[in-house]
Amino acid sequence: MGDFLVFHDIIIIGAGLSGMRAAVEASKRGLNVAVVSKVHPVRSHSVAAQGGINAAMKITDNWEDHAFDTIKGSDYIGDQEAIETMCREAPEDIRELERMGALFSRDKTGQIAQRPFGGAGYPRTCYLADRTGHSMLHVMYEQVLKYGVYIYEEWQVVKLVVEENSIKGIIALELATGKLHRLCAKAVIMATGGYGRVYRTTTNALTSTGDGMGLVLDVGAPLMDMEFVQFHPTVLDRTGILITEGARGEGGYLLNSEGERFMSKYAPNKLELASRDVVARAEQTEIDEGRGIDGCVHLDLRHLGVEKINERLPQIRELSMNFAGVDPIVEPIPIHPGAHYSMGGIMVDLDGRTPVEGLYAAGESACVSVHGANRLGGNSLLDTIVFGRRTGAAASDFAEASAYISCNIDPALSTAARMIADILDRDGGEPVYKIKEEMQNIMHTHCAVFREKGKLTEALTKIEELRERYHGVSLAYKGDEYNTDIVSYLELGHMLDISLSIVKGALNREESRGAHSRLDFPARDDENWMKHTLMYKKGEEFEIGYKDVSVTKYEPTERKY
Ligand SMILES: Cc1cc2nc3c(=O)[nH]c(=O)nc-3n(C[C@H](O)[C@H](O)[C@H](O)COP(=O)(O)OP(=O)(O)OC[C@H]3O[C@@H](n4cnc5c(N)ncnc54)[C@H](O)[C@@H]3O)c2cc1C
Repeated sequence: MGDFLVFHDIIIIGAGLSGMRAAVEASKRGLNVAVVSKVHPVRSHSVAAQGGINAAMKITDNWEDHAFDTIKGSDYIGDQEAIETMCREAPEDIRELERMGALFSRDKTGQIAQRPFGGAGYPRTCYLADRTGHSMLHVMYEQVLKYGVYIYEEWQVVKLVVEENSIKGIIALELATGKLHRLCAKAVIMATGGYGRVYRTTTNALTSTGDGMGLVLDVGAPLMDMEFVQFHPTVLDRTGILITEGARGEGGYLLNSEGERFMSKYAPNKLELASRDVVARAEQTEIDEGRGIDGCVHLDLRHLGVEKINERLPQIRELSMNFAGVDPIVEPIPIHPGAHYSMGGIMVDLDGRTPVEGLYAAGESACVSVHGANRLGGNSLLDTIVFGRRTGAAASDFAEASAYISCNIDPALSTAARMIADILDRDGGEPVYKIKEEMQNIMHTHCAVFREKGKLTEALTKIEELRERYHGVSLAYKGDEYNTDIVSYLELGHMLDISLSIVKGALNREESRGAHSRLDFPARDDENWMKHTLMYKKGEEFEIGYKDVSVTKYEPTERKY
């Protein structure tokens, strides 16, 4: 079944912003770099980012204020050294994006315009209307082509090959042919994005299934802080389509069924621009207490006027009209909270290193941790660019200093081939979608905005049952070419491991912090829980460990908006 055996200095898994930024950095050093992606690079989820990217660009702003806002937003569990690094390096990374050709909206003086975003004490979000990710990802793809990076597109990585705690390469499935290939490398960077699809309602792409986190668990390295899942406050009614925070940044109001701007009760100073966890909880409370409108609250933009809506939020208007039949110029938009972002991920240091030699991670799949228990809007695109670059550089240093060592990758190929042959041979089992739907439903009802012990325990039992049933599924389509049944089967395996990591972490953390809100432990508990959760997979069992939080100069205080 195996076809190619290829050698590269560095293989990057994922062609979103973090993966392609890392690829550019490594290629500049003259290394032989490849990117592997299960979709065409510009279909990566980064393309959907709307609202913008944060950096202290103006002389009236400064990076330390950006760092403070981020640390407060993280509910004091973000690593302060990592946050300082990101905020300090941000302005130069934005200028570098401009030099590459990225377009940004401008203010009247011709400078890059910046809009206010949630949890920020200054308007520091740079944007291109409501299509920022689109602009950035296409520019990064051009750079990758310019530097001659080798791209394996529509190849799904099915296995990492690790010998004696050192990465040797990967096994990937070429979707067009169904062939498995062996790719050897001195260093491998995971840039596989988030896992939003473990939830029923999510803003994430169909491809955001957390494969990279699952692959890393399988080679014994830990995930960190998986209990912290961001629910975005403004997701279009029942569609999962995101309405950018930029809509509130431009002045949008949130209203309940009584027409009341309810955020004044929950965040009297910042109102709609409190951080996302605070706004999502406020909305859910209004809905749960009967002041919702058909499971939603309203986002009202009418007072912004036709001109502003058309200039700053054109895509939002189009999406609302096409998918909810609502024109925001004349009617408020029905919205509710939805799963949006993974604060947790593969544990890495400031240069993207995992505990496995030569294995790195960046972007949403990684946890540095700069977002802690709650990410500020506009900080994720920044994370992909800053840590994509840093990780690309660190992996290059490592690759330059190592010789190619012959690796015995064939046993890994045989294992992967056997796994795929087995699933194709099996008949009469449950379909993959059934288990996936049950998983998404239980995560949605039992482990979302509000959590408590009883429901989390039920979720744990249910996910464990689903993991058992997963071993008995069978596929309807048995062919080689574009077998998306195999793709879904492999993705579901990772999603079940990730769901288990989220639920176990959430059950274990007996406090409320950022996006993790326990009804039975409503207060933050710095004495016992000012620590990161690590999640290891040992065989079929999961084990929990802990890691200290890095604190530089910002002492934890009560968080109010
Ligand atoms: C709708 C939406 C709007 C957003 N808006 C903003 C915003 O305005 N500002 C902000 O800061 N953040 C925003 N975010 C968050 C931000 O866009 C993402 O966190 C970020 O772009 C993720 O980039 P990434 O490089 O980590 O991964 P992604 O862009 O998700 O790319 C993942 C890559 O991994 C590949 N991959 C995954 N698994 C495999 C596998 N098994 N084999 C091969 N390839 C694989 C995929 O093909 C893809 O290329 C938004 C997110 C969403 C969903």
